[in-house]
Amino acid sequence: MKPIHKLNGGIGATLCHLCSIIITTGLTQNLYCDKCLSERVKTDSEFKQIKERANNLMRLKNGFKDKQ
Ligand SMILES: [Zn+2]
Repeated sequence: MKPIHKLNGGIGATLCHLCSIIITTGLTQNLYCDKCLSERVKTDSEFKQIKERANNLMRLKNGFKDKQ
């Protein structure tokens, strides 16, 4: 799995794979934030579940934001 890098000009940032928060500014090899690392589950299916939950949360948040 590759780190998620975001380039908003400047030095960019590395995002958490699970919750998409910015782990650190700059492009690093980190995949997860500290919180997700400590909660990280072992199996692929469990991992997928967490990721889907995070995606749903994001969609929800974006939906609220887009509402006018
Ligand atoms: Zn995270």
